[in-house]
Amino acid sequence: MNTAPATPSIPAKPHAKTHAQRALTKLGLVRDIDFALHLPLRYEDETHITALRDARHGETVQIEAVVTQSSIQSRGKRQLMVTVRDQTDECQLRFFNFYPSHQRTLAVGASLWIRGELKRSLAGLSMLHPSFKPAVGELAQVLTAVYPTTAGLPQGYIRKAVWGGLLRASQRSELSETVVISHLPSLADSLELLHHPTPDVSIAELEDKSHPAWQRLKAEELLAQQLSQLQARRERAKMRAHALKAPPAQGDVSLINQLLAILPFQLTAAQERVQREIAADLALAKPMNRLLQGDVGSGKTVVAALAAAQCIEAGFQCALMVPTEILAQQHFAKLVGWLEPLLATRGLSVAWLSGTQKAKERREMLAKIESGEAALVVGTHAIIQSKVTFAKLALVIVDEQHRFGVAQRLALKEKTQGDMYPHLLMMSATPIPRTLAMSYYADLDVSTIDELPPGRTPIITKIARMTKRDEVVRRIVDQLKAGRQVYWVCPLIEESEAVDLVNATETHEALQAALKNVSMGALPSAKVELLHSKIPTPAKKAIMQAFEKNEVQVLVSTTVIEVGVDVPNATLMVIEHAERFGLAQLHQLRGRVGRGLAASACVLLYATNESGRLGDAAKARLKAMVDTTDGFEIARRDLDIRGPGEFLGARQSGAQMLRFADLSKPEDQDWLKWAQVTAPTLLDAKPDMALKHVERWLPSGSSFMGA
Ligand code: ADP
Ligand code: MG
Repeated sequence: MNTAPATPSIPAKPHAKTHAQRALTKLGLVRDIDFALHLPLRYEDETHITALRDARHGETVQIEAVVTQSSIQSRGKRQLMVTVRDQTDECQLRFFNFYPSHQRTLAVGASLWIRGELKRSLAGLSMLHPSFKPAVGELAQVLTAVYPTTAGLPQGYIRKAVWGGLLRASQRSELSETVVISHLPSLADSLELLHHPTPDVSIAELEDKSHPAWQRLKAEELLAQQLSQLQARRERAKMRAHALKAPPAQGDVSLINQLLAILPFQLTAAQERVQREIAADLALAKPMNRLLQGDVGSGKTVVAALAAAQCIEAGFQCALMVPTEILAQQHFAKLVGWLEPLLATRGLSVAWLSGTQKAKERREMLAKIESGEAALVVGTHAIIQSKVTFAKLALVIVDEQHRFGVAQRLALKEKTQGDMYPHLLMMSATPIPRTLAMSYYADLDVSTIDELPPGRTPIITKIARMTKRDEVVRRIVDQLKAGRQVYWVCPLIEESEAVDLVNATETHEALQAALKNVSMGALPSAKVELLHSKIPTPAKKAIMQAFEKNEVQVLVSTTVIEVGVDVPNATLMVIEHAERFGLAQLHQLRGRVGRGLAASACVLLYATNESGRLGDAAKARLKAMVDTTDGFEIARRDLDIRGPGEFLGARQSGAQMLRFADLSKPEDQDWLKWAQVTAPTLLDAKPDMALKHVERWLPSGSSFMGA
């Protein structure tokens, strides 16, 4: 059980980075304070036992009971049926998804703590998919916190890490108050309460974040946001006063013209327009700060290549940074194909940098970058490591900027010589609604590609219940017979990666079996591969490459199909448990198909809850996907469904992004007003304290927001 011991042992910070630790880092959990501020998503009350006799219909309760019967029923849907009994009554537990480990724990005679929603009907008491564990040791003393987590990070692990961080932070007085707010508990007390609430605290107040402890956190968060924006505004004013310089890329357009001549297509009008906007900026001696937004498949890469060509022709170097290696390699392949022959005639080359590169190759690349021979450098964040020295960097292009942190952007600025700043071009397929763009990125210029290249057949999107899987498998067989390829995406839900991996593995096996099944139309030569986060990077790459070469026809994967993967022969995307995905994510995934001339389709498989319903938000998301393939319309609907606070969600990097405060709530707007008034006074009166406060709240590794 998850009791909070009176004197918890502080887990030492281990040295070797395990998978779990990398996952923590990915969540931005590095410093003790990051852990202390990583707050529960929800709570489970496991502090007491309810007698079955006293449990009301529809109530979520914990019972202590002994298993009296356990069997697998295969009438209708296959299910595990378990009968348990306490001193007062009997209850049926039903599981539709179950594994051998379930059956072992639920063996006859086992005494268990079982937690779930109780149903009373004529047939008696029952629970569907309850959680359970052996009834050993003591019951929890406090409410059990459930933390936001990610792939490869079990609740137990993250819980221990968070509590350790909280304890260390409070022992080192890192939780001291910036501002006293008279009617609210201190930060330290608030955090203690939120991580370890005693049973008398109202779960409802915790979950809707109206509890005073939550208000303290929201006030502090908003204060940090206001302080950092104020600080950034003052910095920018200072920079403007100093008239920042950048290398002007002016002159000959012969490289651009050569590049245009070898492209297998004509630019769209939108591509031409944004290219002109960017070209004009690059020719100036002041740094460009521009966002290039355009839907998935709108052709941003070629615009980036043209911007690079302009700078290279003017005698400078360019860096193209991408968030993942798979993406980096794809860009590399395409850009090399286009640019390398042209650069070669000028004695220049393209360099490639990645974290997993062999030392020798890396040394060669670094030398070329330092000498200036490498006119274009493509890579992951390896580019911004301190060992990389550019001879004359003029342009930095960042693809899928929403996955890049502020710190990385700032680090790039430091790569230029003297008092020069490089031009910055950020590319994103997740359009930011105009009103938000203006309030959040005040000094960012935006170019928009609002048109897809011609000749694309629109993607047809269908939704279907998970029970229709067999029909979907038939569709897959049809596509394969037509020589096409297929993606099948299984979700990773955050709380139970192990179970999801089992699901993905089962789907993989089921598809393999189906393709051998004669009644399905057998296609034994088709190859199905499984891709998930536990597969090491080199093996992942090999699978992706095999898929690109059509040596693999069906790719089953958890969401690791990286943004930007380009396999035009893939014409069908199946997304399982589509109701669990966010709208932007669904749109990104769908964008993997419809890249060639053949008609493409996307099937969204959804599962309903026990009462056969789909939540309103999930329904709205699926409907939006069926209604439109326009990324801007999708973004607009997403905003409607989620509200602005969530749209720029916690996961997006950047100081302004709020994790806890929700500006659609009136009381949080009041805290915003308070923070707006408090920030300037604090920054003037106690600049050190203001700085400390911002650092506490900024995600690890980032620094003052420059954009
Ligand atoms: P994204 O904006 O998602 O990064 P890409 O740059 O990867 O899109 O382009 C998607 C595909 O469209 C690529 O195969 C690219 O070569 C092709 N493409 C880009 N521009 C055009 C165009 N004007 N006409 C036809 N195909 C194009
Ligand atoms: Mg792209």
